[in-house]
This record gives sequence, structure tokens and C-alpha cells, in this order.
Amino acid sequence: MSLMTAPSNTPVWVNVSRCKACDICVSMCPAGVLGMVPAPNSTLGSMIEVVEPSACIGCKDCELHCPDFAIYVADRSEYKFAKLSDSAKERAEAVKNNKFRKIGA
Ligand code: SF4
Ligand code: SF4
Repeated sequence: MSLMTAPSNTPVWVNVSRCKACDICVSMCPAGVLGMVPAPNSTLGSMIEVVEPSACIGCKDCELHCPDFAIYVADRSEYKFAKLSDSAKERAEAVKNNKFRKIGA
């Protein structure tokens, strides 16, 4: 169950004031939807970004594993999620190989 009201037509979103940039959600995402980006003005040095929302399959692995309840996934009744594609799997692998940073960041 999501703890925040979903922004309209959005599969996954973050409460950045709760996020401590631990990378766990990025490591769990099978579709390469998430990535860390540099955040020089943050004491954490980086921040989570929803990079490829259209690839989200709604598995909720990010929400279920976030230790800080900072990331939320829409209900299936509210959003039509993607199917897991080969390109999404490849992107997830590339993000992991990039130390959980957004590709190109
Ligand atoms: S698991 Fe939660 S706290 Fe960690 S980076 Fe993701 S949203 Fe932020
Ligand atoms: S719901 Fe699943 S596919 Fe969507 S961002 Fe979270 S872990 Fe990735």
C-alpha cells in the first residue's frame, strides 16, 4: 500500500526529504527505472532519480525494500505499468555496473 497519494499518471515517485541515498531501491529494480545522480548541494552527495518511469513494471520491490519509506509505487488500479523488456533488463544491469548511478551521470 502506498503511503502518499499518487501524483497523476506517475508510476513511481520519491519523497526526497526522506531519502538517504542508500542505493537499495536502485539495486532492487529489475527494469533500470531508478538511478543515483550527483547532488553537490546535498550532504549525501547524491540523490535518487526516477530516470525511466515509462519502464516501471509496478513490482514494488523498491517500495518494499526502502528502509526509509521514501519511495512509492502507484496501485495497479491507478496506473498501467509496462511489461519487463529486454532493453529494461539491460539498462538495469548497466546501472548496477555503473555503481547504481544513472547512465551518463
Ligand atoms: S531505498 Fe529509499 S532511502 Fe535508499 S535510495 Fe532508495 S528511496 Fe532513497
Ligand atoms: S516498482 Fe519495480 S520496476 Fe518500478 S521502480 Fe520500483 S523496483 Fe523498479
